[in-house]
Amino acid sequence: MTQPMTAYSTSLSCAKELDRTDPLAAYRERFLFPKRKDGEPCTYLCGNSLGLQPTTAAEFVKQELDDWARLGVDAHFRAQHPWMPYHELLTEQTARLVGARPVEVVVMNTLTVNLHLMLVSFYQPTRTRYKILMESKAFPSDQYAIQSQVRHRGYDPESAIVEVSPRVGETHLRTEDILELLESDGDTIALIMLGGVNYYSGQCLDLQAITRAGHARDCIVGFDLAHAAGNVELNLHDSGVDFAVWCSYKYLNGGPGCIAGCFVHEHHATRTDLHRFAGWWGHNKSTRFRMPQQFEPIPGAEGWQLSNPPILSLAALRAAMDIFDEVGMPRLRAKSEQLTGYLEFLLQQECSGFARILTPESPGMRGCQLSIRFSANGKQFFDELRKQDIVCDWREPDVIRVAPVPLYNTYRDVYRFVEVLSKFHNGRPGIEPL
Ligand SMILES: *Cc1c(COP(=O)(O)O)cnc(C)c1O
Repeated sequence: MTQPMTAYSTSLSCAKELDRTDPLAAYRERFLFPKRKDGEPCTYLCGNSLGLQPTTAAEFVKQELDDWARLGVDAHFRAQHPWMPYHELLTEQTARLVGARPVEVVVMNTLTVNLHLMLVSFYQPTRTRYKILMESKAFPSDQYAIQSQVRHRGYDPESAIVEVSPRVGETHLRTEDILELLESDGDTIALIMLGGVNYYSGQCLDLQAITRAGHARDCIVGFDLAHAAGNVELNLHDSGVDFAVWCSYKYLNGGPGCIAGCFVHEHHATRTDLHRFAGWWGHNKSTRFRMPQQFEPIPGAEGWQLSNPPILSLAALRAAMDIFDEVGMPRLRAKSEQLTGYLEFLLQQECSGFARILTPESPGMRGCQLSIRFSANGKQFFDELRKQDIVCDWREPDVIRVAPVPLYNTYRDVYRFVEVLSKFHNGRPGIEPL
């Protein structure tokens, strides 16, 4: 959704005015903020790492604890929300969140587990086509998972993993470089596996263009959406992506270690030729309890489930997903572009002498996070932010990632972040300019 961009200024009154007219301002009240010593909320800009707790999460979890206490095993069928089909309560909302059909999504396991399950099914190397294309410096868990799957299939990660990197002197990937690589080497690539939004740079890739180009070369295309789900608008079904995985504790506010998400395109829903690591929860629901010996997968993403799921975690996720569903991604994205645009504006005005933004400038190529590289003494800036109760995160050797999330962050939060940086810089004239 495009909105006319607000004309920003560096005055505090601009931040106040933007907050006053923010159509999503009321949602801040629906989250619990860590507190400073004086009881005021911290300036929390770390929703890319762990999203805040919805005020309703405790009630949702308590309901399940109470039903467990009251009913014991019978809660599987007689709880207010019976546990047997409990995960289905999240299906429609999850489908809307990522632009999928309900049959294509499921919440299960955690991200890295889901990534392994998808690789088992969708990385089918042959003698001539065995490579996996990924981004250099992918999130470590993705690297380990992919390396181990490659070895598991009897290939050498050294030759089987192809990495795309930013060009020398650049900070993010160019779609054209990915497409070119597919053009030249596509017939050796079995699988393209990329982060939809890069955790480090904050770059959002063009999922559709990459998927189309991959399919044109007969590659399977999967995405890790850990930093994309709940952050950017996704259209997984129409993009044609084969599979995707994401976690729910970052932008989705499901709580630490929360049950994760998985998408499998409808094209694959009833395929029986795929390898899969199976478990009883993926078996046809109507015969599951007859405990047949032969596994018969549920058509669609649910067929990849292994175990009966953690109800308490699902309950907390429901609290968060109700909020996402109420707001809807288009409204969330509209505010997000404004809020991050404001952060970018202030950084350019106040901090350009000592800090540089690594994240792409175009709103279509990023989510809400900006990654900021310091010319020197970055860690001191970070320590000062912490001292002033501003929560963001530090990546060695010189980067601060800051994520103003549209559900609960204000323009005042952003203002304060930049104010602390620029004051600290001005108080320390010894810091070198870029
Ligand atoms: C956060 C994140 C993970 C974390 O994996 P878990 O299995 O949830 O611990 C994996 N990959 C990416 C890209 C991430 O950003």
